[in-house]
Amino acid sequence: MTATDLALDISVRRVAQSRLPEIDFNHLPFGRIMTDHIFVADYNGKEWTDLRIEPFAKMSISPANLTLHYGQTIFEGLKAYKTGNHEILVFRPDQNAKRMNKSAVRMYMPEIPEEIFLAGLKELLEIDRNWIPTTQGSSLYIRPLMFATDEYVGLQPSQTYRFIIMCSPVGAYYNKPVKVKVETHFTRAVEGGIGYAKTAGNYAASMLPTQLAIEEGYDQLIWTDGKEHKYVEEAGSMNLMFVINGKLITASTGDSILDGITRKSVIQVAKDMGIEVEERKLAISELIEAIQKGTLQEAFGAGTAATIAQIIQIGYEGIRYELPPVETRKISNAIYKELEDLKYGRIPDQRGWMMKI
Ligand SMILES: *Cc1c(COP(=O)(O)O)cnc(C)c1O
Repeated sequence: MTATDLALDISVRRVAQSRLPEIDFNHLPFGRIMTDHIFVADYNGKEWTDLRIEPFAKMSISPANLTLHYGQTIFEGLKAYKTGNHEILVFRPDQNAKRMNKSAVRMYMPEIPEEIFLAGLKELLEIDRNWIPTTQGSSLYIRPLMFATDEYVGLQPSQTYRFIIMCSPVGAYYNKPVKVKVETHFTRAVEGGIGYAKTAGNYAASMLPTQLAIEEGYDQLIWTDGKEHKYVEEAGSMNLMFVINGKLITASTGDSILDGITRKSVIQVAKDMGIEVEERKLAISELIEAIQKGTLQEAFGAGTAATIAQIIQIGYEGIRYELPPVETRKISNAIYKELEDLKYGRIPDQRGWMMKI
């Protein structure tokens, strides 16, 4: 797809002086350095208005701002890459625009038209194009955000909202294998709940359980179903995938699992490679049995940040199970390579996934 046919009336107010010369591109802490500009649109109760690019700056918010009290807010996460010949490619932004609207519907917020999302993104990336790192493995993390702006402490949906796209240059993701603990007490999401929405509350509620696992020496959790704590769900910022007997297995998406774009991309690439894929319920007992029998060959998380995060240890009921060495994991290593090559324009984009700026 191309973004060139997306033309909307977007006003532009540029920074007087770019912060770019101050940035050390060899040391980019994740998510702390923001580019010069943001894209903004405001919803006035009827329509999205005042589409604009403006300097990244502090905003003033009323203490009565509804988001601060009731959490009516959603976000997205995606990345832009600079290719060897300095083209800008964005990985499947149309999918993020669609998913943001699924989150919006669940949180009773207005949908943002896909053409505003994509045209705003394109304009912003053109203006801040020099912020996209060129060093191997680095990229520009893009964070779209929508939140309520009514000033009212009564419990009711906001009438007005703001949509923002901000960007942050990020260094090469150090793909360190992770240790995960199967969570069998706390619950992330339930059927009928908000687990499939990228909304603040899901992440706020995960902080205590995750912190407790970190204190036990793990990096992250494997969330299990809220009813019985018997089935694998996801990792809270990544979807989970396993290779058992040569088959790629992952939980089917539903109310309680976020429909990851990396997840669906990994599935598609696997299928195109002729690998058998099963989207189904995966019991923790099946997983542990596969580890014990030696049929579990690979385990990894799939998400925008790392693309693929290898899992080397799974903790369950006080026992730590070690998984096969990362070098032996043919399937996930091959899928990872194909996705990275695609994002940096090193191989042809046969699926039409990359938006060229
Ligand atoms: C964002 C997210 C993911 C991964 O989704 P991607 O689109 O692949 O980045 C998985 N789980 C949760 C809860 C998330 O918020």
